Amino acid sequence: MRLKNVPGSREAVAASDHVESDPEQMKGRWVRDVFGNDNPIHIEVGMGKGRFITSLAAINPDINYIGIEKYSSVLIRAIEKAETKPLDNLKFIRMDAEDIESVFAKGEVKKIYLNFSDPWPKDRHAKRRLTSGRFLERFANILSEDGSIEFKTDNRDLFEYSLNEIEPSGWRLQAFTFDLHNDPVMNEGNIMTEYEERFSSEGNRICKYVITLCEQE
Ligand code: SAM
Repeated sequence: MRLKNVPGSREAVAASDHVESDPEQMKGRWVRDVFGNDNPIHIEVGMGKGRFITSLAAINPDINYIGIEKYSSVLIRAIEKAETKPLDNLKFIRMDAEDIESVFAKGEVKKIYLNFSDPWPKDRHAKRRLTSGRFLERFANILSEDGSIEFKTDNRDLFEYSLNEIEPSGWRLQAFTFDLHNDPVMNEGNIMTEYEERFSSEGNRICKYVITLCEQE
């Protein structure tokens, strides 16, 4: 993805109350010390400008949401939304998801959303894909036993690669579709992301899977 630098975004992100500036310190303490409740935590990894997670937080006040984004120039757009309509159950972290295990304790997260993750088409970059076996291993280490990952993309090659990573990584496929917007069951309650709106308006079909850890029945 080509990024437009937004001057001052790094400083604005660092100063924002909507961003947890020292997330490693919160490992194992998110619910108690950040949100001050007993509600489950759902995260979106690679949230971009944050429309999806902000919409979810607004309609589900009993869930704590954390949006993770690598780049300040993008995260700043999510912060602007949060400033317009502050939500007690929404926080952001600026970080590379490679380090996610240093920020969440085992079992601390109930659901992980991956939306239109960067495809990294070259084979030598496969480990950077958020749906690679390496990332699924990291996610298994922070997810609760009854937790799940929901992944959406319009990239058919990335989706097929991602389907093949599930079982060898110790996960189980619960549901999938190659055409989300024409699948009445999986599309129920669907909230479109910025990328989803753009790609589907160009005629691209949206793929989605839901996976859980294998120990579950
Ligand atoms: N999820 C949004 C959507 O669907 O509209 C944005 C999709 S955009 C293609 C992917 C986003 O993931 C980018 O903003 C990128 O910076 C972020 N990203 C990619 N790899 C990441 C990583 N390892 N850790 C955190 N964010 C990442």
